Amino acid sequence: MPAGVVNSASRFMAHPPLLRLLIGGKLLKGGSTFTVLNPATGKELLQCPSATPEQLNDAIKSASKAFTTFGSKVSIKEREKMLFNAADKIAEHSDELAHWLTLEQGKPLRDARFEVRATVDQMKLKQDTSVIDSKILRDTNKERATLVYKPLGVVGAIAPWNFPLLIAATKVSIAVLTGNTVVFKPSPCTPVTSLMMGSIIHECFPPGVVNVIAGGNDIGERLVAHPDIAKISFTGSVPTGKAIRKACTDHMKRCTLELGGNDPAIVLADADVPRAAKGIFSTAFANTGQVCCAIKRVYVPRALHAEFCESISGFAQAATVGDGQEKATTHGPLQNKMQFNKVTELLQDTIANGATVHCGGLPTDLSGAGGYHFPLTVVSGVDDESRIVSEEQFGPVLPILAYDTEEEAIERANNTRFGLGSSVWGTDLDHCVDVGMQLNSGMMWVNKHLDLPATDPFGGHKESGLGREGGESGLKAYVEEQMVLVRKA
Ligand code: NAD
Repeated sequence: MPAGVVNSASRFMAHPPLLRLLIGGKLLKGGSTFTVLNPATGKELLQCPSATPEQLNDAIKSASKAFTTFGSKVSIKEREKMLFNAADKIAEHSDELAHWLTLEQGKPLRDARFEVRATVDQMKLKQDTSVIDSKILRDTNKERATLVYKPLGVVGAIAPWNFPLLIAATKVSIAVLTGNTVVFKPSPCTPVTSLMMGSIIHECFPPGVVNVIAGGNDIGERLVAHPDIAKISFTGSVPTGKAIRKACTDHMKRCTLELGGNDPAIVLADADVPRAAKGIFSTAFANTGQVCCAIKRVYVPRALHAEFCESISGFAQAATVGDGQEKATTHGPLQNKMQFNKVTELLQDTIANGATVHCGGLPTDLSGAGGYHFPLTVVSGVDDESRIVSEEQFGPVLPILAYDTEEEAIERANNTRFGLGSSVWGTDLDHCVDVGMQLNSGMMWVNKHLDLPATDPFGGHKESGLGREGGESGLKAYVEEQMVLVRKA
């Protein structure tokens, strides 16, 4: 057995788990290691293997080779079977995955278990693949014209740190289902469960079909730049997404970009305030605000503003921020120091500009030395130009803004370079839809937010992204059309 190869799938469940890169069907050590922190303590969690540039090239080479005998030559049914098998294997390891997900990401164990279940569902996903079946467009005495959908080749998939396991499963499952092979790179902040997943599922696919590597941003850059990558599927921040789009033009790579958001929620005058406050609280502070399409600013009629602020603050005050391993914790820490500093800076700016802080406030220890815990905070008395309203906070500080007319609320909600999600809250559902249809976002919800069935297309308008993942458009983004014209006479 070559040096560094580990064949036993059971060893990565030790404490700490034996983490390995998955390259060409083999579980390998990296060229070096990097430190992964536990966000609840700010202390080292473990050392993670880091792929060398040569290992990245090996992964891409294996994926290219695997594509020649996978792609169009393995039926969708067989590919689905492989994914189902992988899902069952992940389910068998649910407890360990949830445990390490909490330790690396910070989310409460209950939420980690939910993410593992969603990961299993995602792998088992029964997408309507008939949308990528070949279609006869014309069949006459003279010619037959068929539209064929072909997989693209090797997909380079790159993820952020908020839902590491679910995003990994989403990208891997869609790539495989559509007949592509994949090299997946998690965030260096949260590589643990993605590598564990690679080890758990590595025997479910022919060698090289699924590769999982870990490393810093430089490995991501190299992955994007590699000429043998046919498509990049990226989830992360707007600036990185823009850099990736530029880098993709060189080889005319396809790319799907799922980027940041600054989702508005508009509460209408006929809304049931406590009900709307409850729904908005749960979807603004989910994952401690670290969700691309969490509610990040709320527009409320001036007459309801005080009642709404009081109601939503009540929910925030009843929450318990802490270590996700503690039973009582409802909201974990921010995932990393950079994010902790960013949210701190935004709240300092908000307070310095005279905002009212209804609950929460700055962390008592701004050094983050004891973990990146941040109080759930509700603010008002800020204007639309303030940083907390115009930037993506990606953390637990929610501005509540008063409005006088619906037209004004719609205009202010749309006055952003983001366009991921939006929602409208009220009693007259037809009117809610009328208002919501005027919002520019990839998803618009009424009386809910952040509901993302995996079979629906997901993606953003404007700078929130390009293309869709999931649904018909999501599947089509992983294949190329080919027109086949046969002359008969
Ligand atoms: P990020 O852009 O800093 O990093 C994301 C990933 O890209 C990481 O794996 C990183 O190593 C890699 N990377 C960094 N620079 C790169 C480069 N030049 N080339 C290739 N890869 C590179 O984002 P983050 O801080 O990890 O995540 C937070 C952001 O992600 C937020 O803006 C959030 O809204 C967004 N996000 C979007 C969605 C969505 O589906 N729209 C979902 C989750 C998070």
